[in-house]
Amino acid sequence: MVTFDLLIIGAGQAISPIIEAARANGATWALAERLVPGGSCVNFGCTPTKAVLASARLAHVARHAADFGLRIPTVEVDFPAVMQHARDLVARSRKGVEDDLGSNLIRGHARFVRREQDAYVLDVDGQEVRARQVVIGTGTRSQMPKIEGLDQVDPLTGENWISRDDLPRRLAIVGGGYIAVEMGQFYTRMGSRVTIIDKGTHPLNREDDDVANALLGYLEEEGIEFRVETSFDRVERTAQGWRLSCSCPEGDLAVEADGIFVATGRQPNTQDLGLEAVGIETDDSGVIQVDEHLLTTAPHVFAVGDVRGGAMFTHTAWDDGRIVADSLFGKGQRTTDRVVPYAVFTDPQLGRVGMSETEAQKAGRKYRVLCFDMAKNAAAQEDRRTQGFVKLIVDDGSDTLLGAAILAAQGAEMIQPYADLLVTGAPLNALRDAVVAHPTYMEAVQNVLL
Ligand SMILES: Cc1cc2nc3c(=O)[nH]c(=O)nc-3n(C[C@H](O)[C@H](O)[C@H](O)COP(=O)(O)OP(=O)(O)OC[C@H]3O[C@@H](n4cnc5c(N)ncnc54)[C@H](O)[C@@H]3O)c2cc1C
Repeated sequence: MVTFDLLIIGAGQAISPIIEAARANGATWALAERLVPGGSCVNFGCTPTKAVLASARLAHVARHAADFGLRIPTVEVDFPAVMQHARDLVARSRKGVEDDLGSNLIRGHARFVRREQDAYVLDVDGQEVRARQVVIGTGTRSQMPKIEGLDQVDPLTGENWISRDDLPRRLAIVGGGYIAVEMGQFYTRMGSRVTIIDKGTHPLNREDDDVANALLGYLEEEGIEFRVETSFDRVERTAQGWRLSCSCPEGDLAVEADGIFVATGRQPNTQDLGLEAVGIETDDSGVIQVDEHLLTTAPHVFAVGDVRGGAMFTHTAWDDGRIVADSLFGKGQRTTDRVVPYAVFTDPQLGRVGMSETEAQKAGRKYRVLCFDMAKNAAAQEDRRTQGFVKLIVDDGSDTLLGAAILAAQGAEMIQPYADLLVTGAPLNALRDAVVAHPTYMEAVQNVLL
C-alpha cells in the first residue's frame, strides 16, 4: 500500500498554502473530503452570503433611488433568482477547488484507525489510507440548541439556507452573532419581517456597546426587531406557521413566524474522526488542542481552521495553512501569534481589529479614544452612505494603536491599514504623515488622527 507523505482531511480554507508547498517540495499527498470541495466558505458561507447581500443592497439602493435624483417606481424581488445567482457562483468556485485537487482527491469520510511506527492508518469510507503526516481541517457545523419542538421545524441554518427558495414572510432568527445580523439584513431587504432573538444584552456582544448599538440601530431603522435578554424555550405549530415561546425580563413572550433561522454558534466536526485511537486530545466541546504551530497532541498531526477553536474565519484558516506549510516544508517559524482583522458584512459594514475599548479597560491599559464621524467624509456624502464612525483605541504612553472599529459603508476594506500598524508596531504617524487620495472612504482612516 502507498504511504503518502501527507494526508489532508477536509477540502476547506486552509488547504491551498499546504498543497502549494507540498507540490513545490515534491511531496506525495492526498486529500479526503466527505461532502464537496470548498468547505463552508465556498459552499454556504462567505461566498454565497456576500453574493446575496449584494442583491439585498441593490434592492435597498433602488428603493432609495430618489436620494440620487432617480425614479425607480417599483422594486420587485425575484427571490429564487437571487438564490440561484448565489448557487451559480458557488458551483463555479467549487469547481475551481475540485479541478485543482484533481486525482489527489479521495471522496469519503476519513477516520483515524491506528498509528504505526512510521505512519498513521486511516479509513476513508472503507479504503485504507496511510500517511506519515496528517492535517485535520474538518471545520464546524451549526450547533442546534436543545429546544422543545425544534426537531419538528427543519429550521434554516448556516448550511441549508442556500438551498431554500421560499422567502418567509415573518422570519425569527435565533442567535446574536455575525451570521444572525448579516442574514437578518439580507432577509429584511428581500421583504421578510425579521425578529432577532438573542440571550445577551445585545447581539454582537464581543463589540463595544457604542459600536454594536449604532449598527443595531441602523438595522432597526430598516425594520429588524431585536428581542434581547430573551431565551427561546419552546416552539409549536400554529395554523399560520410557528409560535416561539420565549422568556425575557418583562415575562413571557410569543414570537409568531413562518420561518426560523438557527444561528446559535458552531460546533467542531470531531466526533467521528477516531481521534482517541491516536491520542489526539480535544476540549470538552470537541475543539482539537494545538500548540502555536498547530501541532496536535499526536506527533506529525496538525489541526487547521475552525476545528482548532479560536478565531473562526476563512482568512485565519488560510493563514493556518501557511503555518503548517512552514512547519512541514519551511523553517517552522510561523505561529498563531498574529493580528486578526475581521468584518461584519452588514450595510454599513463593521471592520474590527485589535482591542476593543472594553478589552483595553479590562487589561488595565491607559488609553484614549479617537472618533471620526463618517458623515464628515466626502466620499460617503457623495455616495449617500454616511452612516457610522471610526473609533480608535490608542495607547496613551506611546501613540501606538491598541485597536480599531470602523462602522462604515466600506468598513471591511478600511480596517486593513490599522491591522498593518498592529502587525508592524509602527506609530500612528505612519498614517498621519501619509497622503491619501481624495475623495475616498480611506481619508477617514487618516482624518481620525488629525
Ligand atoms: C453562513 C456563514 C457565513 C460566513 N461568512 C464568513 C465571512 O464572510 N468571512 C469569513 O472569514 N468567514 C466566514 N464564515 C466562516 C468560514 O466559512 C469558516 O471559518 C471557514 O470556512 C473555515 O474553514 P475550515 O477549512 O476550517 O472548515 P470548512 O471550510 O468547514 O471545511 C471543512 C471540510 O471538512 C470536511 N469534513 C469534515 N469532516 C470530515 C471527515 N471526517 N472526512 C472528510 N472530510 C471531512 C467538510 O465536509 C468540509 O468540506 C462564514 C460561515 C458561515 C457558516
